[in-house]
Amino acid sequence: MGVGDVVQGDCMSRLTVDGDRSLMESTPERRVWCYVQRPIAYEIAGCPKCGLADCDWSEYAHHCWCPKCGIDFIPEHGGIFEGPVPVNASRLLGIDLRRVNLETGAVEEPLDIRVPPVG
Ligand SMILES: [Zn+2]
Repeated sequence: MGVGDVVQGDCMSRLTVDGDRSLMESTPERRVWCYVQRPIAYEIAGCPKCGLADCDWSEYAHHCWCPKCGIDFIPEHGGIFEGPVPVNASRLLGIDLRRVNLETGAVEEPLDIRVPPVG
């Protein structure tokens, strides 16, 4: 075998030893923000186990939490976030797209949405 022949398994084991371990682990990343309303307000899928529609945001990113089953789960679909979000129409429907920063508790406007100044 020549020097240029790198076996992928070898590459992976070096990553495990030298690389950032946290990247190699399967623990879900922690949620740092959530939307101000509950997942059900955005029509995000409920618990796949018991079918409960009104679940909470999980402490893990991309997950929701079923208080009935006591499990974190990845919703089957992301409700209104599956497609382009009609921001103005959402507002009319009472959907609040602002986010709560879970570290500071501050409510933030979504980065990709520019709110024109009123007046
Ligand atoms: Zn459940």
